[in-house]
Amino acid sequence: MRETEILVERARTGLREAFGDDDTDPVVALAPARVNLVGGHTDYNDGLCLPMAIDRHVAVAARPRDDDSIRVSSTDFDETATFSPADDPSGWVAYVAAVARVLREDGDVPGADLAIASNVPTGAGLSSSAALELAVGRVLVELAGAALAPKALALACWRAEREGVGVECGILDQFAVGLCEPDAALFLDCQTREYEHVPLAGDVGVLVVDTGVSHELADSGYNDRVRECEAAVTALRDATGTRVRSLRDVDIDVLETHADALGDVLYRRARHVVTENERVVVARDALKAGEFGRVGDAMLAGHESLRDDYEVSCPELDAAVELAAATEGVYGARMTGGGFGGSVVALVAGDAIERRAQTIRDAVADRVGPDARVFTGRPSGGVRLLGSE
Ligand code: ADP
Ligand code: MG
Repeated sequence: MRETEILVERARTGLREAFGDDDTDPVVALAPARVNLVGGHTDYNDGLCLPMAIDRHVAVAARPRDDDSIRVSSTDFDETATFSPADDPSGWVAYVAAVARVLREDGDVPGADLAIASNVPTGAGLSSSAALELAVGRVLVELAGAALAPKALALACWRAEREGVGVECGILDQFAVGLCEPDAALFLDCQTREYEHVPLAGDVGVLVVDTGVSHELADSGYNDRVRECEAAVTALRDATGTRVRSLRDVDIDVLETHADALGDVLYRRARHVVTENERVVVARDALKAGEFGRVGDAMLAGHESLRDDYEVSCPELDAAVELAAATEGVYGARMTGGGFGGSVVALVAGDAIERRAQTIRDAVADRVGPDARVFTGRPSGGVRLLGSE
């Protein structure tokens, strides 16, 4: 059986085991994990990014209820919870409740029984949170009998993560999980919220090295970086006397001219964002042309910038990038996700992917750490409802 079929079966069984048998056939949604090839920490700076969904998923099976409460079981965490619209649950249930709350602001959403089954590692920078949100959102919209455009669902889930969970994230994760198409990356402009599917001109896949160092985004330096970028924008607005609304309004020349007004730290934070936006455009064009070596170069330069200028890497991430980049057949590698732990993504030729993974697997415990894991990812489509493809 294919991995996704196993997952779907696990979600269906989870629903029956947690909430009893029922004659109704459950509604099931599958939402993918994502890697971000280039464009780290640009999303909340109105910038550009280039994510790709991969073939690891969160599956959610759902049945409607007669009242407005929601019962949810996570087969991965072996936990079940119940909440009503007035409740404000914490922990993982907060993600589910936040999505229900945001969708209920815009329309009727019935009560539901839900079961989650996932093979996306959590807290590894592969966006298990957005996959959970989009899968829950998709089944709730279906149970409501509503129609919601994919972009509107992605925005609803983004608001849920910000307002319900308190991570000041940009739209990257929810748009990637919601809108990617098979065999393509997603070029996303976070300022206009417009996007373009970028077909992969050739057989490529990714290797993910999960360092096993867990990040806690809400508690970590992530929100500090958001503050620093806001401070850089204010300083640049004052220094230039122009209407700088975000770092997107700044190019490298303006930044260099006003470096003194920023001071060393804010200057380096801004330099990362400005140069990273440039790298996204280079990587998008290279991807279209099938010039994967150039994509890889942009990834490596992006990692150096995240490490030295933005300071969101850690020794394990740096070691994983070094290991992957030195492996034959790997085009490039960089940290993906918020940083301070989590995963590295490497771009690899599709036909060599399993061999390259094994080479890295053999060295990863020594070079990266005892909890590090390596797995492969193939380009995948965004969230979908089973039976509707
Ligand atoms: P990432 O999105 O990079 O995986 P986050 O910290 O943003 O990391 O989100 C991880 C959180 O999402 C988990 O701690 C948990 O609360 C929730 N989550 C993800 N997958 C599941 C799951 N299968 N069951 C329940 N909660 C999940
Ligand atoms: Mg997340």
